[in-house]
Amino acid sequence: MNSKEDNIQKILKNIPQKRTLREGDIVIGEVVQTTDKIAIVNINNKSEHVLSPSATGILFINNASEDYVEKMGDVVRIGDIVKAKITEKDKFGFKIKISEPDLGVIKSYCKNCKAELNLTDSNIKCLNCKTINTKKIGKM
Ligand SMILES: [Zn+2]
Repeated sequence: MNSKEDNIQKILKNIPQKRTLREGDIVIGEVVQTTDKIAIVNINNKSEHVLSPSATGILFINNASEDYVEKMGDVVRIGDIVKAKITEKDKFGFKIKISEPDLGVIKSYCKNCKAELNLTDSNIKCLNCKTINTKKIGKM
């Protein structure tokens, strides 16, 4: 290894937040795709544990709430920002869960009019258009 590479190695070692995500890490991400049973979450680079490039989180419906949920759309929707916990790494990405009291949606927009929602409880009435939005809400 030449000295230039050596210096780069030293610099990389001194960036403490740059490490691989692991089981138990709390991350912030945006829901980018959903089916009835699965949500794909783009884990944000601004998460506490920085990953570069950003990582893919996979949320299965059984990990989306403490309660029974029929459809993913009842707890998260595309565009929602969620706080989640890494449960496992597999070949497709990181499995995540939001089925703990502090985990879940921390920022969201009305499914009807796109106004930002005031996330106070799981049935949220949009202050703009009065549509009811349902979410699994997390705490910042
Ligand atoms: Zn609305």
